Amino acid sequence: DSIDTATTSFTRELKPHHEFRFEVSPPSSTTIRLTAGTAELFGTELSKGLPYTFTCAKPAIYTWTGCTLAVDGAPASEYASDETPMSTYLNLHIALEKQRVAAADCPPTTDGAQGPRILLIGPADVGKTTLCKILTGYAIRQGRKPMVVNLDCGGEGVLSLPGTLSAASFGSVMDVEDGFGSSPMSAPSAIPVKLPLVYYYGLETPEAGVRRYKKLVTRMGVAVNSRLEEDIEAKNTGLIIDAPPLDQTNSDLISYIVAEFSITAIAVLGSERLYNTTSKAFAATPSVSVVKLPSSSGVVDREPSFKRACRDAAIKRYFFGDAKCTLSPYTVSIDFDPANSAGGAAAVLALWEVVDSGADARTNTSFLPIGEDELALQHGEDEVRRVEVTDIGNRFENTVLAVLQVDAKDAGAKDVGESAVMGFVYVQEVDDKTKRMKVLSPVPGRVPPKALLAGKWPEGMF
Ligand code: ADP
Repeated sequence: DSIDTATTSFTRELKPHHEFRFEVSPPSSTTIRLTAGTAELFGTELSKGLPYTFTCAKPAIYTWTGCTLAVDGAPASEYASDETPMSTYLNLHIALEKQRVAAADCPPTTDGAQGPRILLIGPADVGKTTLCKILTGYAIRQGRKPMVVNLDCGGEGVLSLPGTLSAASFGSVMDVEDGFGSSPMSAPSAIPVKLPLVYYYGLETPEAGVRRYKKLVTRMGVAVNSRLEEDIEAKNTGLIIDAPPLDQTNSDLISYIVAEFSITAIAVLGSERLYNTTSKAFAATPSVSVVKLPSSSGVVDREPSFKRACRDAAIKRYFFGDAKCTLSPYTVSIDFDPANSAGGAAAVLALWEVVDSGADARTNTSFLPIGEDELALQHGEDEVRRVEVTDIGNRFENTVLAVLQVDAKDAGAKDVGESAVMGFVYVQEVDDKTKRMKVLSPVPGRVPPKALLAGKWPEGMF
């Protein structure tokens, strides 16, 4: 019973256990105010009277108790429904919470102190990210400190930019409009306890570069574990991991993620078949329980153009902030030609790029003598490659580059391919004569002399 509407201002009364679903696409926006009762957006409570503005979203506001909402704007569609899986999701949260209580009762150095580690899997557009937000929101409301890991390289980049694998530990309420928040400063109300851990994978799907994807999963697993070892509350709370879209053909990757993060529970959404193959695969592994969860009837397929608009918005937010927290990026010049450095104007950087697929690169190295191609593969030379100074040109304009935590000088393919990210710059202009780039940077001053990594994903914008 979806109603297309051009109304600009109206109120909606929701009975208990109902949710208000609506869709907003740029350039229009919709503002919601809770005027009576209680309500939550994907697990995070709305404050009474406060305006929440949405520009690129398909949200649902749920109420356990009943509420009244004042709506301003003309959402592309809006309706209320009482068919939601919220009670099942709440029960999952309660089960996780019991394990957290048990973990907190154990001495900090024992294995038992490790809280539940849940992995959410399923095909695209079944509500994995949404459930991840709900479980995170409930854990935070319970006074816990959940660590959220996003392995969905092709998605919106909910913790960082699209194309990344990222992790952050949350200790305060989440941002209602933005979910987790992707600006470098983090939106004021979505404050991760520490800056997110970010790796730039730079391809849309794990399959496009599965060897490097797995290496980054391993790196992330190690980094996350070491953060948890420093923070007993976060360790007791455990992990909530959002996977990329996967089906039964990806069982190898699922097992890999389960092993690297010591997963204790897998929740399967939206595919009976995936649930069956996964529960069979882990039948003999008592440390991992597999549960099947219903998808919400509100979950909608998002058209490619809408997804693209959300990705672009995430990139814009990284550099320019949002209505609540405006950022002013700096225009900085970077230099790639060693011949220019004599003048001492700017440090010379090294540009690398992500290689499309392991398969292509394998054929590229096949001209090498036997043994050497194997060595090249071991060093990750099929996964990222150094861009020769002569090849630096305008194909890099309007793309994002990751500034890696590895020095430009002497870095090899392995260091570059597996390094964590310091931040991102956005290439505005490339002068292919002087080999200088004009980039937008969220921080003032020179870009440090680090290796820069260009990906194939997300595609350029602005
Ligand atoms: P996945 O992570 O599986 O790709 P998402 O959680 O991102 O799926 O959900 C897909 C889309 O459906 C998102 O735009 C999300 O906002 C929307 N959505 C999820 N749950 C609901 C709901 N209950 N009502 C309305 N829209 C929803």
